[in-house]
Amino acid sequence: MSAVGESVSVASQQYARRVVPGERVHLDRYDPADTQGLTKDEGRDLLQQLDEELAELQELLYAAGQHRVLLLLQGMDTSGKDGTIKRVLKEVNPTGCQIMSFKSPTPIELAHDFLWRVHAKVPEAGQLGVFNRSHYEDVLVVRVHKLVPDAVWRGRYSQINAFERLLTETGTILIKCFLHISKDEQERRLLAREQDVTKAWKLSPGDWAERQLWDDYTAAYEDALRECSTTRAPWNIIPADKKWFRNVAVAQLLVEALRPHREGWLAHLDALGQPQLAALREARGERAGEDEEAVEDVTE
Ligand code: AMP
Ligand code: MG
Repeated sequence: MSAVGESVSVASQQYARRVVPGERVHLDRYDPADTQGLTKDEGRDLLQQLDEELAELQELLYAAGQHRVLLLLQGMDTSGKDGTIKRVLKEVNPTGCQIMSFKSPTPIELAHDFLWRVHAKVPEAGQLGVFNRSHYEDVLVVRVHKLVPDAVWRGRYSQINAFERLLTETGTILIKCFLHISKDEQERRLLAREQDVTKAWKLSPGDWAERQLWDDYTAAYEDALRECSTTRAPWNIIPADKKWFRNVAVAQLLVEALRPHREGWLAHLDALGQPQLAALREARGERAGEDEEAVEDVTE
């Protein structure tokens, strides 16, 4: 373990793997248990540093109100989407967070285009939003289960890219993470949930059926990661077999996406704050004047 301020600094290394736009993705080339030489103790220290920085950045994001932040999480069942949200957002102010989950669409949602329900859940200005699943389900589960014709889901890649372009060009900072677990690790996690009656609620018989479709899901993910990794909204592959490493990698991405805006938010707050304070001082000055009169009235 390194001493405070020593080798493991927040910016020392990139733990997520960014998908280069257009690059063919072979998920079997990425080790889901990779920790890039980081030890668990170092990871814990690093995560604490990231926690502090994220808390400060989120406060500025909220106060400045100039951007929206959207952390989008995808991954196979048990890949740790919920656990990531719980840990990575541990130190941020819940007032500034919006957590959105996407389940099977309702009849009303299905009666609209697939992005309708998604656009409505994009966070407001100043908010840090998280998507637990997303519009990517419409090229993943929908493709694997053949819920629409091939031509329909194939057309969605460019529709998704256009939608994400709209978001990023209008003030949304979009961070997309694929939580990459191994099939063995999934089995361990499913079995572990069965051992604990208080975790069984997370299970459904469908989980084992979905697991049979692992290869189909893998192919669907590889295509989505390739087709929808763009310069403004790249995909990131997060090795997720080790929960602590996954948390570090996601927290780092989030902090590094927000950090470049820090000075701008501070400048904006300063610009807002100066006239605000001047107005307050003026108001207080008048009130002080009134109070003096009031005091004189009483003493007369
Ligand atoms: P969970 O994340 O365990 O609560 O499960 C949510 C379920 O909703 C998953 O099985 C998803 O595949 C499913 N789901 C989410 N979005 C869609 C969609 N657009 N079409 C069909 N199923 C979906
Ligand atoms: Mg599930």
